[in-house]
Amino acid sequence: MSEQCLFCRIISGEIPSAKVYEDDEVFAFRDINPQAKVHVLVVPKQHIASAAAIDGSNSALVAKCFEAIAKIARAEGLGNGYRIINNCGQDGGQTVMHLHFHLIGGEKLSEKII
Ligand code: AMP
Ligand code: ZN
Repeated sequence: MSEQCLFCRIISGEIPSAKVYEDDEVFAFRDINPQAKVHVLVVPKQHIASAAAIDGSNSALVAKCFEAIAKIARAEGLGNGYRIINNCGQDGGQTVMHLHFHLIGGEKLSEKII
């Protein structure tokens, strides 16, 4: 846990959130500024600053996040598809330095970046 990290404080319950999923390693909650009908943030409970900090010591937690994403997508009725986004670092537009995956869907999404 990083004391100053917003998402660590959400995971600990110090800051309230609309939780949609939790297991031993993963926490997921609704984005406060949703970009689609469904917009969930999926985070490892362990503080990892960004995708740039993924290595052999923590990559299993990334796999756990993606297992959770598939479960949450089913629970949220996203059988028609969805988008998973990770913003990494300043140029990537990351604003909260705790690794997170945006799960976005529930409607036909706008144009792709790639
Ligand atoms: P990023 O720009 O990829 O770092 O994404 C950070 C996301 O966190 C943004 O989509 C914000 O809307 C979201 N966010 C910021 N504060 C909160 C909060 N207290 N609860 C839920 N989502 C938040
Ligand atoms: Zn954190």
